[in-house]
Amino acid sequence: MASELPFLERVGDRTPISLEILPPNRGVGLDAIHSFIESLGGWRPAFISVTYHQAYKIEENDTRIWNRKKPGTIGVCAMLKFQYGLEVIPHVICGGFSTYESEDFLVDLDYLGLNTILALRGDPRKGDDSFTPHRDGHRYASDLVAQVGRLNDGDYMEDIKEPKPTTFTVGVAGYPEKHKECADPDMDIQNLKNKVDAGASFIITQMFFNNEDFFSFEKRCRAAGISVPIIPGIKILTTKRQIEVLPEIFHINIPQQLKEEILACEDNAAAMQVGIEHSIKQAKELIAHGVPCLHLFSMNNTAAITPLLNELK
Ligand code: FAD
Repeated sequence: MASELPFLERVGDRTPISLEILPPNRGVGLDAIHSFIESLGGWRPAFISVTYHQAYKIEENDTRIWNRKKPGTIGVCAMLKFQYGLEVIPHVICGGFSTYESEDFLVDLDYLGLNTILALRGDPRKGDDSFTPHRDGHRYASDLVAQVGRLNDGDYMEDIKEPKPTTFTVGVAGYPEKHKECADPDMDIQNLKNKVDAGASFIITQMFFNNEDFFSFEKRCRAAGISVPIIPGIKILTTKRQIEVLPEIFHINIPQQLKEEILACEDNAAAMQVGIEHSIKQAKELIAHGVPCLHLFSMNNTAAITPLLNELK
């Protein structure tokens, strides 16, 4: 496994730590991303994953409504790789893409040497109750994983003489507290296993605030025959409002005691301190448990992640 996923190799006995960042809003430029990377002070994460934000609303007549707030996933990834020499993992989603467009996107990543990706279905568009795939696109992340597998076999969507196979390594998302749309937790794990069977070689989880949820999920994955590394995703609470908003958006639970501690805070600065302390406890327990890596949903927020990194580095 270590040779297949070199970004998970340990330096000494240190557990690798990775970060997730978002591309900037349209028109804002990259200054904040440069400042964020420079604020890490030379510390190098195992990898940085960069989110993708759905492209277009597809109307019945195929009119494309321009509604992307955060374009630039590929550009940010290329900049981080070539300017800073960082290991970068772009998120690739199904939503908004026909399978031909997915192939084009993957060809660009291949040409840039961005050969490790996180393959996702993507969330429903803002305002929609459910996910609607592009009419010529993938409905599930497993279909995208399978498409990447075909490219790795040199099987492109056109007949090509002597095709050059791609060399992608694919990660997928897992949900310790179950994905919202799946009624049955066992079926959700089976759907995750389908992604691994389609070719995924690592899993990054949704955020969770109670490590028992992760431990139980990991156990159920192993029992279902999923043997790839499972990387826990950690989010540091930074505002009081997040105890309402995060469960709504991500369908996760925040333990009652943590909620109460946050509610008792006078302001967001105090809430962030509670969030940081909670994340340090979570991270230390996960590391002691032997996780292959810790993935921080950093939200490009240096102030929140630095105290945690200082504890763990
Ligand atoms: P899937 O694996 O396709 O699963 C979606 C649902 O369908 C699940 O309920 C699953 O159980 C079910 N299912 C799967 N296969 C089948 C089947 N064959 N039959 C019936 N049901 C099935 N979203 C973005 O838009 N951009 C991002 O950059 C992004 N980054 C993320 C990073 C991480 C670490 C995580 C955990 C999530 C991220 N998301 C992102 C959110 C993600 O796109 C959503 O959670 C989405 O709703 C599901 O994506 P998925 O890849 O897990 O989908």
